[in-house]
Formats: sequence, structure tokens, C-alpha cells
Amino acid sequence: MEYNVTLIPGDGIGPEIVREARKVLDKVADKYGHKFNYKEVLMGGCSIDAYGVPLTDEALATAKASDAVLLGAVGGRVGVDSWYNLPPNLRPEAGLLSIRKGLELFANLRPAYLYSELKGACPLKEEVADKGFDMVIVRELTGGLYFGERSTKEVNGVVTAVDTLKYDENEIRRIAIKAFEIAMKRNKHIISVDKANVLDTSRLWRKIVAEVAKDYPEVTVEDMLVDNCAMQLVKDPAQFDVVLTENMFGDILSDEASMITGSIGMLSSASLGAGKLGLYEPSHGAAPDIAGQDKANPIATILSAAMMLRYSFDLDKEADMVEAAVKQVIAEGYRTVDIMAEGMKLVSTTEMGDLIAERV
Ligand code: NAD
Repeated sequence: MEYNVTLIPGDGIGPEIVREARKVLDKVADKYGHKFNYKEVLMGGCSIDAYGVPLTDEALATAKASDAVLLGAVGGRVGVDSWYNLPPNLRPEAGLLSIRKGLELFANLRPAYLYSELKGACPLKEEVADKGFDMVIVRELTGGLYFGERSTKEVNGVVTAVDTLKYDENEIRRIAIKAFEIAMKRNKHIISVDKANVLDTSRLWRKIVAEVAKDYPEVTVEDMLVDNCAMQLVKDPAQFDVVLTENMFGDILSDEASMITGSIGMLSSASLGAGKLGLYEPSHGAAPDIAGQDKANPIATILSAAMMLRYSFDLDKEADMVEAAVKQVIAEGYRTVDIMAEGMKLVSTTEMGDLIAERV
């Protein structure tokens, strides 16, 4: 099969880690007889330097016309680089908001997986970490409290701020469908997280999720209150497969889930819209402190490319192969500096990419 991929290396370590992900994709193409056509565009600080804006209309049009977008990271040293003297809507990170909006991405996927070899970095009790975990948080990205009407004004002489939490049934249905589709590719178990004992939006959420569930009889669904979910994530993370939740709950819970893996350089993510087009990127930033030194861990970006194979191209076998190659390299004791431990073999960004590509 042939696919068009927009590559956005971005700033800082972005070009180094995207280069390694491309190396792995090329190996997949070779081995399975696919063809990936790449188009590279600028976003973030490098686009500001070249064109005066963090994302040009042309770059967005290229991304829209492709089958998937693979992004490194954008941004520089906040308060040091001259990009941060610009107004907020012209700074590097504004490119991220523009592309997510331009591609109409409403579902954010953040997997959290504990590699048994890295469990020393997991902050949970040993008996909890020993059980391991492998979950994905599916977060609604364009509705809820962050997008509702807001105001701050004086009411009867008292300064009063209001934020509005609003969801309609269509917004809930489309994210629920995404979560069920994802569950069908995993262990077919969804925990839908809400605050239905208090919020009307959560009661509507439960009702719509239950309706969508009827179309997926193979998937088991449970409802869980968000406060309980926050506790369960540290008490028994092994119980989770797919966690489906609204925007603000997902924002908080996905950071909590990332934290318990203990290794930021390993965490992939995806943002999806109604069709197959998705934006795939590591969960970490541009790490300007180590940029250009061949030290960055490329695994989060390589695993993001594996998500692209799975969710945008339906190449599940190839995605499994990339994930297995990463596991093998970790099991063989190779480490970049961020996950280095005593007795392990320290490798550069380039070497890590080579090792994973060789094992695909
Ligand atoms: P960061 O994630 O870039 O870095 C935090 C720390 O983790 C640093 O010490 C860094 O060296 C390390 N680190 C991150 N990724 C690593 C990797 N792959 N391998 C090894 N070490 C890694 O977060 P920050 O320092 O808060 O932000 C730096 C810049 O990145 C800022 O300009 C910020 O706005 C931007 N940022 C961009 C994105 C994005 O593009 N999606 C996300 C977060 C931050």
C-alpha cells in the first residue's frame, strides 16, 4: 500500500527524533512492501524564522492533504529565545493549536505502558509496579470546560468568574465511537470516566456511551467516577485498558498516567478526527537543553509512528512489529541517557534508531 505522510520535525530535538522514526518507517516499508511518500513542512520556531508565523496556510494544506502527520516537537527556551518576545498567537506553540484545529482533531490518545525493565523508574509501590500496566487514555479534545463561554465581571460589587461546561450528544457520541473502535484493536475493555453523581454533562455522557456500547457487544464497559479513577490509577493501574473521558478529566488523568510510567522519552500520543487522518507526536517537548547532541530518546516518536500505522493506516501487524522491536531493544539493555541505569549499554539517538530498525 502507498501512504502520504507529512513530516513536521519542528524545533529542538524534533529533527533528530523524527529522522529516527522515519528510519524505522522505511524499514517497515521495505519489509512489508509498502511505500511512504514524505513531505516535510516547517512548524514552530523554525517556521517563525522562515516565514514570520508558526504555521503557514501552505503547511496546513499539505498536512490536510496527507494520510497522516508525524510531528517531532516545537518550541525553544522560554524567556530566552527571541520567539517568546512575540505575542502568544505568533509563538512556536501556537502552531500546535492551529494544526489541531485545522485538522479538526477531537480525540486525543495517550498510551501509558510500563516496561518491566524500566519499572525502577515507576514511582508506585513495588507490588503494584510488578503487575505492570498497559492502557490508553482517550480524551475528548475540543469541547467541555476549556471551550465553553467564560467571563470575569463584577456582580453586585463582587468580582465573579464563570466557566461553562457544555457537551452535546453528538460530541459525546463521536468520541465514544473512537474509544470503542480503539478498544476493538486492544483488550475490548472500556472504563468511561465521569462525575455523574454531580454533573448533568456527565449524566448525558453515561447515557450516550451506553447507547454506543450496544453497537459493540464484544466490548465490556464500566463507568467510573473521576475521583475514584484518580485513586485507582495509582492503586491498581493494571485494571485499565481503554479509559474514555471528557476534556478536563482527560487532561489531568493522562498526566497522572504518564507520571506512573516514569519515563517521558517513551510516551507516544495521537490526535484523531472523524476520518483516518491523524496527528502523531511524542508526549514530551522540544528539549532545547539537549538539542543537536544526539542524546535524545527517539522511542516516543517511534512509538507514535507505530500508532500512525495502527490508527491511520490500519496496519496492525506492522505496528505490533515496531512495538515488539522497541521492547526487544529495551530487554537487550540498550538505553539513551534519560533512561540509563547501572549495567546497561548507553547509546545515542542515532544508535537507538538503528537498533530498533534492525529488529523490525
Ligand atoms: P520538554 O519535554 O521539552 O523537556 C523536559 C525535560 O525532559 C528536559 O530536561 C528534556 O531534556 C527532557 N526530555 C524531553 N524529551 C526527551 C527525550 N526524548 N529524550 C531525552 N530527554 C528528554 O519540556 P519543557 O522543557 O517544559 O519544554 C521545552 C520546550 O518544548 C518549550 O518551548 C515548550 O513550550 C515546548 N513543548 C512543546 C511540546 C510539543 O511540541 N508538543 C510539548 C511540551 C513542551
